[in-house]
Parts: sequence; C-alpha cells; structure tokens
Amino acid sequence: MNNRTFTMIKPDATEKGYTGGILKMINDAGFRIAAMKMVHLSEKKAGEFYAVHKERPFYGELVEFMSRGPITAAILEKDNAVEDFRKLIGATNPKDAAEGTIRKLYAASIGENAVHGSDSDENAAIEGDFFFSKLEQF
Ligand code: GDP
Repeated sequence: MNNRTFTMIKPDATEKGYTGGILKMINDAGFRIAAMKMVHLSEKKAGEFYAVHKERPFYGELVEFMSRGPITAAILEKDNAVEDFRKLIGATNPKDAAEGTIRKLYAASIGENAVHGSDSDENAAIEGDFFFSKLEQF
C-alpha cells in the first residue's frame, strides 16, 4: 500500500500547544486521518519504536525525549503519502527545513523536531501497526 504514512506529533509540540496547528496543516495538505490517538509512551515502548537507531549516539536522548509526555499518533492517507508527508514536515534539522514546512514553523532543534514521518511504505505499515490494531485503522 503506497497511500498511507504514519506520524507522531512529538512531546515538544504537544507541550507547546501546537497539536491543533499541526493537524490543520496536515488537513490542508490533503491527508485523510485514518487513525488517531494520544499516547504517553513508556521508555520501553519509545525504545522499541526507535530500535533501528539503537547504535546512534543520540538514542538515549531520543528515548528520554519521546517518553517525557504525550504524543499524538496518527495514520494518514493520500496518494504518494510517504513522500508528500516528508515534504510537508521538512528536514530533520529545522535549521535546514524549507519555508512553510511543519518543522520550520514548529520545531526547536534536530532532536526536538515536533513531528515524525515514516521514511518508506514498509515502515509506515510497521509503525501504524505498532500503535493501532486493525480494528482501529479506518
Ligand atoms: P527523521 O526521519 O527526519 O525523523 O530523522 P532520523 O530518522 O534521522 O532520526 C529520528 C529522530 O531522531 C529525529 O526525528 C530526531 O528526533 C532524532 N535525532 C536525529 N538526529 C539527532 C541528533 O543529532 N541529536 C538528537 N538529540 N536527536 C536526533
């Protein structure tokens, strides 16, 4: 399936009250919300989600950050969802993010960068299933 991606509005953006603004940008860009919920990840679950980054020097910091408060997890649907959503969120480091992208507007730093977006169709499916049962995906 190449028309779905997975996103999280990260704890930094939740704390600052950016959830509504980010969801509006997602809606305005033409994505349909196929699943959504707020979750406070434990360190264990955050570590599992980011297991691919286990060997990276920032892994500990990332797990601590992602488990520090609630996130909003969602599955989004649109043609070419993965690529178009990566364009909408912008570069990992907000300093490099294009004007008008979510990270340019809402992210504070390379670590606390407001949103997650899947990097492939395969990972979008894995990540969506990490948070939502099949009964919760519409
Ligand atoms: P993404 O696909 O744009 O989210 O970027 P990556 O897959 O490379 O990294 C995953 C997440 O790890 C990023 O979104 C950041 O939250 C975090 N991260 C990446 N690089 C760094 C870094 O150098 N320092 C810290 N503290 N966090 C980072």
